[in-house]
Amino acid sequence: MTEIKAPRGVRDILPDESWKWAYVLNHAHAVAGDFGYAEVHLPIFEHTELFSRGIGETTDVVEKEMYTFTDRGDRSLTLRPEATASMVRSYIEHDMAEAGQPVKLWCAGPMFRYERPQKGRYRQFWQLDFEALGSSNPMVDVEIIELSLELFRRLGLTNLEVMVNSVGCPKCRPVYKGRLMAYFGAHLDTLCESCVSRYSRNPLRILDCKNPQCRAVTEDAPGIYDSLCEDCRTHFTSVTDGMTRLGATFHVDKRLVRGLDYYTKTAYEVLSGQLGAQNAVCGGGRYDNLSEAVGGPALPSVGFATGLDRIILVMEEQGCSFGKRPAPLVYMIAQTPAVRTEAQILTASLRRSGLAVEMDYLGRSVKAQFKAASTLGARFAAIIGESEMEKGTVSLKDLESGEQVEVLRHDLAGKIRKLCESN
Ligand code: ATP
Ligand code: MG
Repeated sequence: MTEIKAPRGVRDILPDESWKWAYVLNHAHAVAGDFGYAEVHLPIFEHTELFSRGIGETTDVVEKEMYTFTDRGDRSLTLRPEATASMVRSYIEHDMAEAGQPVKLWCAGPMFRYERPQKGRYRQFWQLDFEALGSSNPMVDVEIIELSLELFRRLGLTNLEVMVNSVGCPKCRPVYKGRLMAYFGAHLDTLCESCVSRYSRNPLRILDCKNPQCRAVTEDAPGIYDSLCEDCRTHFTSVTDGMTRLGATFHVDKRLVRGLDYYTKTAYEVLSGQLGAQNAVCGGGRYDNLSEAVGGPALPSVGFATGLDRIILVMEEQGCSFGKRPAPLVYMIAQTPAVRTEAQILTASLRRSGLAVEMDYLGRSVKAQFKAASTLGARFAAIIGESEMEKGTVSLKDLESGEQVEVLRHDLAGKIRKLCESN
């Protein structure tokens, strides 16, 4: 029979890497706590309509990238391509309008998009998603951007570029769309096939195209700023002023529109030069009309999503620290087969006292057990032989200093702790 491999575009995160994921996730938990965002766990699949109405029919995500299937009850369901729409759905479903606004939530988990797999682009990837729901205050936009930047700061990421723009609102965007159509109308023969179809359906999308020829055309496209209504313009200024007050370095990018239709006013992205074509580490912005698009009440909100896979890629390339890889503190060494069961009892008792302990199950020689201890990075070897058995003791060797002491069995955990404290 042929061997079954993982489907294209998905991958296993193995122990060599998973501890790095835990490190980043721990930081996400800490930053979320410091900014007052509570964690939620949302479903991995939702009704297809939530995404088609919420994200927008003319977006790449909805047009080309969704994993949609019919379940046994004939419902059309979709593996979530992003979390914002689910977050809004959850807010509405659980009447969170009753709570103080904004309601600040975050979640972490896999998202699914049918894309062309390459470095930093997968069909299943993880996002950390932070949302502040129920406030139109531009200071909340500033908090959201600052939250993402603080996470990257704590992870030690450098050389990130923050790009900010406004995408207007349903009042002023049509004016801008008209100006874009006038501009792109003269360049239709240079645009790619998708952009030609975007031209009549949603010309803003052309600004987001990754095709180099289209990118060149968009360079001289009109920016949105002159088309913004008073409200959007004031909002944008408040956000950029707020960021400046916090000392954030950012660029206004007139071509930044983001791939999802629901954005209003603020749109931003954090880019890293380290990722080639997959240069977006984080994207977000305000989405004041998403709730209404999925049948909810008016719910002005702002949020961002950042790709965990890409964060880790950049951290690796920049040589950022992931802390210490988890290793046993103690490796239990049985000197003879006769004391192996005793070694297991001792191992269990140390673990019950909260210490990380590993032991051998292959009946290896003492030398091989010492080697395993050092390969795993254990700080101590606890050695039990026939003489220790008789005396009720254990020999404890500090593998860093080479010092060895013999201690009573019931003093072992205490002795290990004391040695750890002393350096
Ligand atoms: P891109 O322009 O690279 O396709 P996007 O604008 O589609 O990104 P968003 O929808 O804003 O991405 O998602 C937020 C973040 O999720 C991105 O900045 C990126 O870090 C990550 N991300 C998006 N798609 C993928 C993917 N297929 N594989 C890995 N990470 C991804
Ligand atoms: Mg994309």
